[in-house]
Amino acid sequence: MVQTAPRKLEAQDIPIPQIDNESALLQLEACGICGSDYEQFEGMLRTPMPVVPGHEPLGTIVRIGDRAVERWGVDVGDRVAVETMISCRHCPACLGGTYHLCDNRKIYSYIPTTEEPGLWGGYSQYMYLHPNSVVHRMSRELAPEIAVIFNPLGAGFRWAVEMPETQPGDTVVILGPGQRGLACVIACREVAAGMIIVTGLAVDANKMALAKTFGADHTIDVDNENLVERVKELTDGRGADVVVDVSSYATQPVVDALSLVRPGGRVVLAGVKGFKKVDGFISDLVVLKEIKILGAIGVTATGYRSAIRLLESGRVPIELMHTHNFELGEAELAIRTLAREIPDVESIHSCLIPEH
Ligand SMILES: [Zn+2]
Ligand SMILES: [Zn+2]
Repeated sequence: MVQTAPRKLEAQDIPIPQIDNESALLQLEACGICGSDYEQFEGMLRTPMPVVPGHEPLGTIVRIGDRAVERWGVDVGDRVAVETMISCRHCPACLGGTYHLCDNRKIYSYIPTTEEPGLWGGYSQYMYLHPNSVVHRMSRELAPEIAVIFNPLGAGFRWAVEMPETQPGDTVVILGPGQRGLACVIACREVAAGMIIVTGLAVDANKMALAKTFGADHTIDVDNENLVERVKELTDGRGADVVVDVSSYATQPVVDALSLVRPGGRVVLAGVKGFKKVDGFISDLVVLKEIKILGAIGVTATGYRSAIRLLESGRVPIELMHTHNFELGEAELAIRTLAREIPDVESIHSCLIPEH
């Protein structure tokens, strides 16, 4: 499926590329869908077009060069999760250990079809794997729609555990109960966080119930409850050790986070707001409480590995957050369902499953 203009996806034939010594060909099993897919679909991300979208690919290696076998440690027949970023490995960011911030990075699903070999995204039956790809081998025992949850779950580990250095016993407030908020709950539970509190709107009742199933101790409906008061009550007036904002567009959670976090606590901002200014942001709170504010974009190998290990363990009923499988030709429907444009249908985690 090729995006040719904002809100326009069409099926196109693109030839399967030759694979050299350092690259590979992936046969897609599933491609996860998230809020970024909607933003790309709408044209908000100003990505080049025409383009094959799809930045959460899972599939099987069907062709691979000898050098790639050596470097990646995988071979024909292996199921792999593919990281979104293609980094250069040589710029200061890469050499500094932050390869996801690479100065020369390319991003799968944002590379136009006009750049050879064109198959740069997961809304496809096959995808080209560039020599600098990072892939993670994954058990074949999981259903593809479950295995592909490696992506949001990886974000949960990086944003709610790795970046804020969440410790056993810590109180964590997670602002937003979507697939990434739920993934944060699961990740925090894995590292033995103390109290986990999840916030959402009145319409999020199902997601909030799911948050509890995954281990949240409390949920707060911000439409009907006083968030700051409630967290104060639950933490004996102390505030949370860690606050993670995974909500998109709304800026109030950023303001709330500064009130919810304890002195010396950590706030992770991982939800984009469409470049809006944040009304009511009081920087003095950051100073007086010595709050650490961390921006989080994307996931790196350690987060993905934790996610894949947990998925493979079968310890968490992760399938409860999976709501929809769509065929490749239904990509537009999948995106619109996620964005609540389809009345009475609620999507939490969904994916495209290409037919072969
Ligand atoms: Zn995504
Ligand atoms: Zn680089």
